[in-house]
Formats: sequence, C-alpha cells, structure tokens
Amino acid sequence: AEKTHGFVGADLAALAREAAMAALRRLIEEGKIDFEAESIPKEVLEELKVTRRDFYEALKMVEPSALREVLLEVPNVRWEDIGGLEDVKQQLREAVEWPLKYPEAFMAMGITPPKGILLYGPPGTGKTLLAKAVATESEANFIGIRGPEVLSKWVGESEKNIREIFRKARQAAPTVVFIDEIDAIAPRRGTDVNRVTDRLINQLLTEMDGIEENSGVVVIAATNRPDILDPALLRPGRFDRLILVPAPDEKARLEIFKVHTRNVPLAEDVSLEELAKRTEGYTGADIEAVVREAALNAMRRAIAEGIIKPGTRASEIRQKVKVTMKDFEEALKKVGPSVSKETIEYYKKIEEMFSKGR
Ligand code: ADP
Repeated sequence: AEKTHGFVGADLAALAREAAMAALRRLIEEGKIDFEAESIPKEVLEELKVTRRDFYEALKMVEPSALREVLLEVPNVRWEDIGGLEDVKQQLREAVEWPLKYPEAFMAMGITPPKGILLYGPPGTGKTLLAKAVATESEANFIGIRGPEVLSKWVGESEKNIREIFRKARQAAPTVVFIDEIDAIAPRRGTDVNRVTDRLINQLLTEMDGIEENSGVVVIAATNRPDILDPALLRPGRFDRLILVPAPDEKARLEIFKVHTRNVPLAEDVSLEELAKRTEGYTGADIEAVVREAALNAMRRAIAEGIIKPGTRASEIRQKVKVTMKDFEEALKKVGPSVSKETIEYYKKIEEMFSKGR
C-alpha cells in the first residue's frame, strides 16, 4: 500500500497479475515446473506462492496510470478552429511556432526564443485550444497536464512525475508541454502549510532552467489567477512571456459563432451577426454551449414532430431539420454569459501591472 501511491484499482489488479506471473516464471526458471509432466506435483503447487520479491518485480513493470496518461498527443486543432484572438495567435506564431520550426534561423539571428509562456484570462476563452493549435501548427508533440491533477493523482510522486514529463518532452522534441491551471501547483511559496507545492515549484523551476536553448521544448502554462502565482515563475528564462487571452469582443464572437456552426444546418432566419451583438460577456465555451443547446432545441422539435425516427438518414435530417433563430433565443435564455464587466476590469488591471515590468 505504501509503495503504490497514485495507483488506481486497475493498476493494482495489473500489479497482482504481474506478481503472480513473476512467481510462475520463478518456478519455471528453477526447473520446478516440468511442462512434459501431466500435472504439477502437489509439493510444487504448495511452493507456488507469490512472495514479496515477486511484488517488487511487478512494481518495476506496472506504473500508475496517472503517469501513463501523460501521453504524447498529436493534437489536431488548427488556427482556423479558433475564432478571434488574432494578435494572440500572431504572438504564439512568433514565440513558439517559428522557433520550433526554424531553430537555425533564431540561432543565426541571435534571438533567444522564450522557454515559457503564460496564457492568462477568464476560463473558457480558448487557452487550451491555443496551446493545442500552436503544437499542431508547429508540427510538434503535445503533453498536457492539469495542475489540480498533479496534486491529487500523483500524491507523493509529483516531483518524480514532473521530471518524467520533461524527460519525455525532450525525447520527443519538438514538444509543447502544456500546464493547465498552473496556479494549483504554483501558488506563492510559503503559503502552503504542508509545503507540497513549494517542492513542486522548485522541481518545475529546475526543469525550466534546464531546458537548453533551441532544444525544441516549450512550456505553455494557463491560469485564470495570474495574481496568485509564485513570482519566481515569471522571472526571465521562465514564464517571461505573459499573454492575456481576453473574453471575446463582438467581432471575435461572430468568428467563434462561425467556427461552431460550421457543421450545423442553420435556418435562413439565423443571423450570426445579431447573435454576436447579443452575447456580450459570453466566452468561446459559452458560445459553444449556446450552439449546442440551439441544435438540441431543433432536434427535440423534430423528434416530437416525428421527422426524426429511428433509422432516419443523416442526409435527410440535415435537409429537413434546421436550427432557427428562435432555437438560439431559447438557448440564450438557458446559457448565460460567464464573464462580467468586473472580471474584464480585473484582467485589464493585471495586464497593466504586468506590462509595467512587475
Ligand atoms: P480555457 O483553456 O481558456 O479555459 P478552452 O480552450 O478549454 O478554454 O475552451 C473550451 C472550449 O470552448 C473549447 O473546446 C472550444 O470549443 C470553445 N472555445 C473557447 N474559446 C474559443 C475560441 N476563441 N474559438 C472557438 N472556440 C472556443
């Protein structure tokens, strides 16, 4: 129990199986099990016990799934899947995509690309999407971890796992390492009574400092609480590029509506311009929810009217079922804006503070 921090039920089952296999292997190697014989003699069966050593052998083979989940991903989010945020995309192109694609050019020009970038802003504004898109567009691998998970799933193993992530990242370079909700693992040092996060920050800083120039590893972190981060993280050579990912303005909201209605059959009366106007305070995630809700409204109606029946073909449904402006209006009543004026002000203040050189 002590040695299996971070193991879930399935991992423990795998461990038990591996230990039993190790015991079997041992007896076979010792020549005690004779495959020619018709049955295994009773004395041998009695000896066939899973020992402590077998479990230690098994522990070498089975790792907790939390770590196995830290898988290299090849994301397929493209720049055009993100509505608005044009200047943020451009900054990421220059700070991440170019250095990963043309490292020689940066060396030749004597420019040091950033190792770490912090995206901050309200939840649901596309930070994760941006990190994935920049990895796709740079033809880089992607490793994503979430701050709260590092703390909860990796109890006692967190530092080791952070080391492991960076090892994997270097091995698979070019790699974008994405740390979502970094505030969970990196609040100001000294504020955590049991010092878990202090050790984590130190490990993370060590790894960041160890990234060599043009090694093809870039770390992108995201947070909606940039003000509570340990300031040491934001020093030069670490997360020294701070980029606000704001709630979308009307023009950006229109672009986001366009992205999310790409595959939705819309009725003639639907005006995305009008919807963009009426959705102040809605984030990209909110808009996605509005579109989904509106489409569901249309579907409910079609099922009630018997237009959709079991076996109705997709092509027929797309022809006959259209999402109307009224469906969107109903959806807007159900899904509200998640960003207030105060929230927007709060991030603006932080942006000003950051731009004044912290
Ligand atoms: P964050 O990481 O900022 O909390 P996400 O990137 O996880 O937000 O966004 C959640 C979902 O909201 C995305 O999967 C996407 O469907 C939608 N979304 C958010 N921002 C945008 C955007 N700018 N354009 C298109 N979709 C968006």
